[in-house]
Amino acid sequence: MRRILSHLGRELAALIFPDKCLKCGTYITNAEAGHLSTSFCTFCTGPALPVYQPPFCTCCGVPFDTGDTHLCESCLKAPPDIGTARAAFTYQGLIREAVGLFKYNSRLSLAKPFEACLYEAFTDYFSDVPIDLILPIPLHPAKARKRGFNQSFLLVRNFRAIYRKRYGQPPPWQVDIQSLVRIKETPTQTGLDIAERERNLKNAFAWGEGRDIEGKSLLLIDDVFTTGATCRAAAKTLLDAGAARVDALVLARA
Ligand SMILES: [Zn+2]
Ligand SMILES: [Zn+2]
Repeated sequence: MRRILSHLGRELAALIFPDKCLKCGTYITNAEAGHLSTSFCTFCTGPALPVYQPPFCTCCGVPFDTGDTHLCESCLKAPPDIGTARAAFTYQGLIREAVGLFKYNSRLSLAKPFEACLYEAFTDYFSDVPIDLILPIPLHPAKARKRGFNQSFLLVRNFRAIYRKRYGQPPPWQVDIQSLVRIKETPTQTGLDIAERERNLKNAFAWGEGRDIEGKSLLLIDDVFTTGATCRAAAKTLLDAGAARVDALVLARA
């Protein structure tokens, strides 16, 4: 009964206060909760969102146009510090625009649908990995103050609650937003090549004293993975601090 009422409540609210498409501004009808259809109209969404799916590199997760899932050339030459990197979407089309709206225009209504999509990817790719800690990539305090929120944290804020609701028990992993810190303010990485990005991010992260991660399995969360320099720099810090394994899950993978 409560479910029916809450469903009716949602339907009613949608009738009285229909959501507006964040791209074209038209009112949205037929939105499904937890999906991007609450944020964009069907015209703007198009026939399909760029869902991240195989084939991709077994390690860094770079998507391939054709063929089978295999190790990419760069991971074959030099295995990166990250165990596996996976995503919910590829970084293109509407997803690229939506991430920009979320991050730079503070369209925080996107946090929940994005989080729901990321949670599905988490279930798809990491349900067999014994994760101990989930770590959103931190912002430098100066940037966090300026932006007012950490987009990576908003992507996993309700992960524990979602798990508990689904399985009726608390998850075996924690979400930690304090121990990994950003100690170097890095200029925006847009337009820089991979070597420049890596130089910028050298020693950008530190592991606080609070929590022992010796032998632990960690999962980094970020909004976008382009060259992967950010996740790799954070992974290096974590492995140096004793972690056994570091994987990465992002909302959108270039
Ligand atoms: Zn639209
Ligand atoms: Zn690779």
